[in-house]
Amino acid sequence: MSEVKILLTEKEIPEKWYNVMADMPNLPKPPLHPGTKQPIGPDDLSAIFPMELIKQEVSQERWIEIPDEVREIYRLWRPSPMYRARRLEKALDTPAKIYFKYEGISPAGSHKLNTAVPQAYYNKQEGIMRLSTETGAGQWGIALSQACNFLGMECRVFMVRVSYDQKPYRRTMMELFGGSVLPSPSTDTEYGRKALAADPNTPGSLGIAISEAVEIAAQREDTNYALGSVLNHVIMHQTIIGLEAKEQMAKAGDYPDVVIGCCGGGSNFSGIAFPFVHDKLTNNAKVRLLAVEPSACPTLTRGKFAYDYGDTAGLTPLLHMYTLGAEFMPPGIHSGGLRYHGDSPLLCQLVHDGIIEASAIDQTSVFEAAKLFARSEGIVPAPESSHAIQSAIAEALAAREAGESRTILFSLSGHGLLDMPSYEAYLNGKLNDYPLPEDILANSLQNLPDVK
Ligand SMILES: *Cc1c(COP(=O)(O)O)cnc(C)c1O
Repeated sequence: MSEVKILLTEKEIPEKWYNVMADMPNLPKPPLHPGTKQPIGPDDLSAIFPMELIKQEVSQERWIEIPDEVREIYRLWRPSPMYRARRLEKALDTPAKIYFKYEGISPAGSHKLNTAVPQAYYNKQEGIMRLSTETGAGQWGIALSQACNFLGMECRVFMVRVSYDQKPYRRTMMELFGGSVLPSPSTDTEYGRKALAADPNTPGSLGIAISEAVEIAAQREDTNYALGSVLNHVIMHQTIIGLEAKEQMAKAGDYPDVVIGCCGGGSNFSGIAFPFVHDKLTNNAKVRLLAVEPSACPTLTRGKFAYDYGDTAGLTPLLHMYTLGAEFMPPGIHSGGLRYHGDSPLLCQLVHDGIIEASAIDQTSVFEAAKLFARSEGIVPAPESSHAIQSAIAEALAAREAGESRTILFSLSGHGLLDMPSYEAYLNGKLNDYPLPEDILANSLQNLPDVK
């Protein structure tokens, strides 16, 4: 009988990240300056990002070296384990083989530390000792606080007000690692004060928090900004997940028919899937790639492929992506990390070109799947990651129906040990589904920026 845990040694941590831009048939349209609506240059970004990350953002080199100091910190949890979910297979009575790559093993509890560490590192290399960022549910704020802690830097986190109040444990964890956390909107920024004046009781939003974090990074010489998903360099750092997964699949003597990940801004999905996109585009591999999003925030499946802002204030460059509109306020589903109006332009282009598939599912079915997975495999999954579990189960059941074998690989992007209030709501029958009504979507898409 083959193994349950497929492990690599520390020596096998990849030495390079993979850059999908080297292989894409069509590159995304370039980011535009929010004021002039012309393509931005490196100088436009240098107020808030270090030059090395700006270079990675536009690079078309296929392989980018991982610095030794970053690999040294990666050793704290990488290579992450891959599991064969034998007990889940048995519970489903399926001939399919189910593998998952587990990123909840990281000190941050999610994949986000994979990019937080190199982002902090490149900033420090260029003399920046203070980073500002936003966080919704809190996972990115934790990851960046930890990375800054490892590298002796300061971290300022704008946490969406409603999460700040509802998720005190995440805030405590950021503070434990030295991050300073403010509820957003805050009185520390001009945009925050404006938002508070408009509505003193606002629950806040990711778009507002990004505006605040960018504002202080743009104003202060000593502070840069860091983003936890969406941008090209972030996606590239996450490919370490898929590069390891490919080695582990090879060790298991297998290759996936389908690779699945949940999708908020696209980083964990792209991280596991893009190294397989390489196989597909350069080697004609027959692998399917499936990004799964919440029906309450269905960016890839129902958004418009167009230019839009990354934030609410319109301070960020315009990105060409699938979008629900920068002012879209998703309902308060329990997968806080999947409530973003846009997605990575690289991922969106690949979906648009038919190389990657997308689907949207309801949260009650996601929690059903999470429960079955927890009871079979013993891991409490993050609600975000459970979107991938639900779809992996659906694939396994389809294989059973068809009476055929199928090899399924999914990304388990994080654990759900700080998500007990969500599980409690589920167990008490208090979860609702919020499929996005057509009129709300149409309304939100009316306000997309006008780009010639
Ligand atoms: C943030 C987060 C996500 C969503 O972000 P992506 O960039 O789409 O990966 C998914 N899972 C977990 C556990 C997260 O923390």
